[in-house]
Amino acid sequence: MLPIYIMEILSLYPTLKETIWGGRSLIDDYGFETDGDNAAEAWLLSCHKDGPSFVMNGEYEGKTLAQVIAEEGEGVLGTNNIGKPDFPVLIKLIDARDKLSVQVHPDDAYAREYENENGKTEAWYVLKCDEGASLIYGMKNSLSRDEFASAIENGTLLDDVNVVAVKPGDVVYIPSGMLHAIGEGILLAEVQQSSNSTYRVFDYNRRDKNGNLRELHIKKAVDVVDLSTVDVDFSATGDKKISGGAEKTYLTGCEYFRMTLVETKEGYEDSATDESFVSLLVLEGEGELRSDEQVIALKKGSSIFIPASFGKYSICGELSILETRT
Ligand code: ZN
Repeated sequence: MLPIYIMEILSLYPTLKETIWGGRSLIDDYGFETDGDNAAEAWLLSCHKDGPSFVMNGEYEGKTLAQVIAEEGEGVLGTNNIGKPDFPVLIKLIDARDKLSVQVHPDDAYAREYENENGKTEAWYVLKCDEGASLIYGMKNSLSRDEFASAIENGTLLDDVNVVAVKPGDVVYIPSGMLHAIGEGILLAEVQQSSNSTYRVFDYNRRDKNGNLRELHIKKAVDVVDLSTVDVDFSATGDKKISGGAEKTYLTGCEYFRMTLVETKEGYEDSATDESFVSLLVLEGEGELRSDEQVIALKKGSSIFIPASFGKYSICGELSILETRT
């Protein structure tokens, strides 16, 4: 039998993004380096052209994740992703010192037609919040499209949305079409479709550092927004399960991704199957990832890409990890 070549496990470094609402936690607490005054977002698992992730270890060191996948072929993404037009997910840490714009994202059909990329369904796992932190989550009042457009124009839209208090551990699932905004004083991990299509409807009349208002995209937002009212429930979808030395809590998922919180006191074993690659984002703790050939140090903010079909790997240490599979 021919030996089956399997790409090694990748440790990734993010692109950092400065914005008018970003804080300094990702620089001061996570140790990411940037020339910017703040780091609003760290794109920790990204093949998106607007912010790639870079390999820090092994034979691919210095290449982008997208370059490695182009060289190795889509087999490393797993059978669930064969033939998809883009890399399926984009995983970020987001540090909102100030509030984000009220926004909505298109679905796949609309984004393919108007933006030439994926639509954007996303989910947040809340890591840290200031006392009294809240976010905007869907419609409180059911409006027609005309009423929605008028509410934007009249500056009364915030009267019609849900403003919901959040706490660490909350899980917030945001399908494309749902109006939303992260509030001030929130640090969270985000898993989303690989897409950068955002339609802003309200930006609190803020100006950027050059004194300009940021662009709004009201016509497109009116096209794609889902105006039905929503029930608010930020609890994890699944129960805790003990498996391979870890406590695993299924947080949320959809056709694009499945998010699991993995908590371990000493370590655990797991595997990457043929269906999907595995992304591990370390939320807390220190330790090591080990396979037959590799040892990779893990700390808060580490982002690991394990190719599909890799098979077994083990994790040592006391760690809290956000695991994403497609
Ligand atoms: Zn969003």
